[in-house]
Formats: sequence, C-alpha cells, structure tokens
Amino acid sequence: PPDTPAVHVAGVSKSFGTLPALSDVDLRVQRGQVYGVLGPNGAGKTTLLRILLGLVHADTGTVRVSGRHPGAPEALRGIGALIETPAFVPHLSGRTNLRVLARARGLPDSEVQRVLEIVQLDGRADDRYGGYSLGMGQRLGVAAALLGRPPLLVLDEPTNGLDPDGVVQMRELVRNLGTDGTTVLLSSHILGEVQQICERVVVLDRGRTIADDTVENLRAGPGALTVELRAD
Ligand code: ATP
Repeated sequence: PPDTPAVHVAGVSKSFGTLPALSDVDLRVQRGQVYGVLGPNGAGKTTLLRILLGLVHADTGTVRVSGRHPGAPEALRGIGALIETPAFVPHLSGRTNLRVLARARGLPDSEVQRVLEIVQLDGRADDRYGGYSLGMGQRLGVAAALLGRPPLLVLDEPTNGLDPDGVVQMRELVRNLGTDGTTVLLSSHILGEVQQICERVVVLDRGRTIADDTVENLRAGPGALTVELRAD
C-alpha cells in the first residue's frame, strides 16, 4: 500500500556480547523524507543501518523496510546503500565500474549515464577511478547505490573524511535527491549537517533515542547540542 512507511523500526535492541549497541529504538521514515540519524561515535548509527540492510539481526523488536523483512530479496532490491568506502576497480573508469554493476543486474548503459549525471560525475566519468578524489569516489558510490532507482537510499556518514569541497558537494547532492522525492536515511555525527539536509532526525546516544523530531524543533532543544559537543 502507498502509505506503507519506507522504514519502520519498533522497539529494536541489539547487543554485541554484553555491550548494548541499540536499546529500544523506534524509527518511522515516510516515503519522500530525508531523515537523519545523528549521534556521536559508538551511538549505534551504523548498527541501525546494518539492521535495515539485513546485515545484522536485531535481538528484539520489529523491523520493516517498505513493509518487508530486512534481508529479504524484495527488501534488498528496494534499498540503495553506501555504508562503507565503495570497492571500485582503480584502473577502470568511473563509468566502466558502474557498467559492470549495472550489467550484472540487467540494467542498460543509459541507467549508468542517468546516475552519473545525478551525482555530477558525467564530466569525469571516463577518467580512471584511481585518479578520483575521495569526494568523487563517494559520489560514485552514491551513483552505484542509485542504479535501478531503489525507493530508499541509505548512506552511512557520507561526508566522513571528505575535504571541504567534497563535503559541500555531497550535502548538495543529498539535498537534491530529497527534492526529487527520493527517500534518504543518512547518518551523521554533525548536527549542522543534518540541519542542512534533513527534514527529520533521530538522535542516538549510547544506543538510546534521545530525540526524534523535525529539524526545526531540534534547533530549539538542548539535547542534540549536547551530542554535538561530544561528537569530535
Ligand atoms: P561510528 O560513528 O563510530 O561508526 P556508530 O554510531 O555508527 O559509530 P556503531 O558502529 O553502530 O556506532 O557501534 C555501536 C556500538 O556497538 C559500539 O560500541 C561498537 O563498538 C559496537 N559494535 C558495533 N558493531 C560491532 C560488532 N560487529 N561486534 C562488536 N561490537 C560492535
């Protein structure tokens, strides 16, 4: 049904050994939203995203991605993800790297061109991937995630490690995706970043939800500011 949320997480907990990484976390992402998961290192952001991708199983709670169990083939087809540095082949061009991925999934070369234009790499698409800056590499990773038009994009700290230009370009890219109606769930440890690009944000601290609100309301509240001060 069209009103099925893109992501529905209810009462999810996950421990590694005795260490609780997530405790009773709820999250509901509506279609078309750009939603941030904000928190300092170790807050549980990556664990939450990995649960949505079916890479980690929650100990308790309910998780649905477009109404489906995470890890199910239909759920995986509906998610484009960038959760670690993408493994592209250095001596091949950006375009060829994407073509390999596209052809493996039966997608035409026109789809490669479409995603290259979205991430604004079409001008550099025939350069070797090995010569790309970190930011260009990350944008190629987003392009790969966009292949096949998945309804949900999951990005784990997509601006981490980028130089200032790369940060600006990545934030602009995510904002534009949101404007075009793509549902995006991204993690960050920078309050200002989620304020710039997200509509709503869930704030995690040591695995617990300390806020889940619109960015405007968060600006007024003290909780997130505390997190930011602890973040770096
Ligand atoms: P970061 O910004 O550092 O990636 P994060 O908010 O994404 O932080 P997680 O990576 O989800 O946090 O980690 C949450 C907690 O769970 C941390 O204490 C981490 O050490 C622990 N953890 C995560 N994955 C594992 C694992 N596979 N085995 C053991 N502990 C883990």
